[in-house]
Amino acid sequence: MGGREFAVFYVTTPIYYVNARPHIGSAYTTIAADVLARYHRLKGDDVFFLTGTDEHGQKIEQEARLKGVSPKELADSVVEQFVRCWKTLGITYDHLVRTTDSYHEEAVRHLFSLLQNKGDIYRATYRGPYCIPCESYLRPSELKDGNCPLCGRPVILLEQENYFFRLSKYQRVLLTHFENNPDFVLPRSRYNEVLNRIREGLDDISISRTAFKWGVAVPNDPEQVIWVWFDALTNYLSGIGYPKDSERFERYWSCAVHLLGKDILWFHACIWPAMLFAAGLTPPKQMFVHGWWTVEGEKMSKSRGNVVYPEEIVEKFGCDQLRYFLLRETPFGQDGDFSEEALVRRINNDLADELGNLLNRVVGMAQRYYGGKLPERPAEVAFSELVGKATALPERVDAHLERFAFSVALSDIWDFIRLMNRLIDHTKPWELRKKGEEERVAALLHNLVDGLRVVSWLLEPFMPDAASQMRRQLDAEDEEADWQTRIAWGRSKGGQRLERGRILFRKHSE
Ligand SMILES: [Zn+2]
Repeated sequence: MGGREFAVFYVTTPIYYVNARPHIGSAYTTIAADVLARYHRLKGDDVFFLTGTDEHGQKIEQEARLKGVSPKELADSVVEQFVRCWKTLGITYDHLVRTTDSYHEEAVRHLFSLLQNKGDIYRATYRGPYCIPCESYLRPSELKDGNCPLCGRPVILLEQENYFFRLSKYQRVLLTHFENNPDFVLPRSRYNEVLNRIREGLDDISISRTAFKWGVAVPNDPEQVIWVWFDALTNYLSGIGYPKDSERFERYWSCAVHLLGKDILWFHACIWPAMLFAAGLTPPKQMFVHGWWTVEGEKMSKSRGNVVYPEEIVEKFGCDQLRYFLLRETPFGQDGDFSEEALVRRINNDLADELGNLLNRVVGMAQRYYGGKLPERPAEVAFSELVGKATALPERVDAHLERFAFSVALSDIWDFIRLMNRLIDHTKPWELRKKGEEERVAALLHNLVDGLRVVSWLLEPFMPDAASQMRRQLDAEDEEADWQTRIAWGRSKGGQRLERGRILFRKHSE
């Protein structure tokens, strides 16, 4: 098999901030992680898929006060919306970590004390610009027209006693790690971006706050709250049992793959590995940085009123349809543009006209010619182009998924679907029947049933519902078989009952 095989696979999404319900952006990362988790489970790997919610910080404290509820009550109600949304999207996470969970807070305090005892966390006075919405300390040189470079809003000048993390100490270690692991951060442009910034030099960073209370208190100094990013990043450890369940933690941590958006690259690719080095732990195995979605060419924002909510799209178009669209429309790593028009085009063309129609033709052929029952497998069944493509396809898809190239994997699968449609057009089974070439018609049908079964398994992580519906109609459910058997060629049998089920993908008016 090509590509690396993970016997253990640990995949994470960022934890989502509970100041808003999930939108298409958070759904995007989570669906991508779900596809990887489902794929590795199919292959028989030991998988752990972690997502979570980020619930501390000044913004939450302020918003809760405005709403007249406690921060925890506010968090609870938003977390409920996340849980419901993930269910609607078919997300199969193994655990959802909440930063207000006591085991997580304990892990944060543990990590903090560990770094403090080592001398990598120290107390000092901070003077400088600070952005409240971003909860970020900034260098004066970073400001854009006096405003925050991250959000563009005005900053305040802050002077306070804080705890600092010796990030500067880890510059060389980080550079070595980047140089030895060229695939540590993907895509390569993001790797270069971080590497160049690390080369410019690193300042120690403040990792505590005193302006608010809603957070994890610094051990033995309750006036200070641990910085939300220190708190949040630790979820990747606490979510798999750190520090108490060392067996579970060690099994998964060495295989950690983080998926994240480009806005939080620096925290994940520089600060986080430095924290881990300080704690005597290894950095995650790999991280992949994806792009953002605009909506009909515009930035998505509450104030523009153009935020796309996944549940509404699922309600109107279906879950598999949305999952397919997000991963097919734009290469993972680049920015994408969402519009219902583009979604409908994908549904009508790729899903209904190409995949749905192919299944229909195959089931229809079996019913028209053989009363729905596959004839005996003829001795000579190979349509060589089809067989060649079908046997190479699983390995190609595997290699693409190893590189997070979801859209390429899907596009390869669709090339094969189109090939099967063309094969029917060119072979013209209706004419073969008139000419009495019965063997060849039977052979064609067996090849198509085999091909569709392989396609259904490769699509299973992306569109679980449609994929199992396909196999039901093909009488090829294979629930007990292992992955290699499921994707093997030449397993169609005489007597298999092909039956029409519900329509796979309904078309929408454009
Ligand atoms: Zn800001």
